[in-house]
Amino acid sequence: MAGDILFNKIAFIGIGLIGSSLARVIRRDGLAGSIVACARTEQTRQTALDLDLADSATGDVAEAVNDADLIVLCTPIGAYGAIAKQMSAALKPGAIVTDVGSVKRSVIEAVTPHLPPGVHFVPSHPIAGTENSGPEAGFDSLFEDRWLVLTPEPGTDEVAVEQVAELWRRTGSKIERMDPDHHDQVLAITSHVPHLIAYTIVGTATDLEDRLKSEVVKFAASGFRDFTRIAASDPVMWRDIFLNNKDAVLEMLGRLTEDLSGLQRAIRDGDGDGLEALFARTREIRRSVIEAGQHIPPTPPGGDASDD
Ligand code: NAP
Repeated sequence: MAGDILFNKIAFIGIGLIGSSLARVIRRDGLAGSIVACARTEQTRQTALDLDLADSATGDVAEAVNDADLIVLCTPIGAYGAIAKQMSAALKPGAIVTDVGSVKRSVIEAVTPHLPPGVHFVPSHPIAGTENSGPEAGFDSLFEDRWLVLTPEPGTDEVAVEQVAELWRRTGSKIERMDPDHHDQVLAITSHVPHLIAYTIVGTATDLEDRLKSEVVKFAASGFRDFTRIAASDPVMWRDIFLNNKDAVLEMLGRLTEDLSGLQRAIRDGDGDGLEALFARTREIRRSVIEAGQHIPPTPPGGDASDD
């Protein structure tokens, strides 16, 4: 319902694609009394103000969280620990800290030690995104019909969890609660390893000698095109994801490597039946994805669709 204030003051620490998309919904529906945006660069702070995503902007984390009821961490996850340390002393009792990071266990480990007693941490991850970055890249329909995973530790204040869940419900997200380790394993195979494969294929193509490289770009309309879109995702964000979800990604990569070796052998041995059986099985998976309504990625106005 428009004008239904859920939090008096919300502080965004980082206001790029994800933070600005959430801020757009909060502004559109009047869900906060005021918003403060915190970003490193003057350019991002000014853009956030120009786009009316926030009432004020600062580069000082402690100043941003002062008197805030909800703090949303929206930077690459590698910065979370330092940010949590900077905001620690300025957090007011009863404040809720949440985040949007793509990995959950390491985020909990980086943030929790810095939070004073009486401050609630409700980690979250919107499974929605595009390969674009910055406050201009956001749009208010990004989270519609997408999953939002909450991974609070046992014993987290349930009222705080519900307040964060309600905010995400207002974006049109479907809410799921998960153990953080389980989240990291699921995302390793559904998102992180696929991104790694895209980075690898596009990197391999880039390393090919010049003539072949131009043919690769020229004929990119086949499967390669989708890989180039995924491989255009933010380098810092993805660096941090792999560094922070090491165990789950390495485990899934191990399995993938074994399966790839099996496929190599099937091709070498001319095992057509084996190849066809696998491809028939994967086609079924695609059907289940369509049935679950997860086949259409969010599309920015006038842009390419993607997902995280
Ligand atoms: P983004 O568009 O690149 O925005 C990042 C924001 O964080 C910017 O406002 C930037 O400010 C600030 N920032 C960057 N490095 C910082 C640092 N070291 N210290 C303080 N502030 C810093 O990123 P995004 O795509 O919104 O991603 C943000 C988070 O969402 C990540 O943790 C990511 O894992 C998660 N996520 C992303 C997606 C996706 O598809 N993109 C999907 C789901 C979740 P300046 O511009 O001033 O540097």
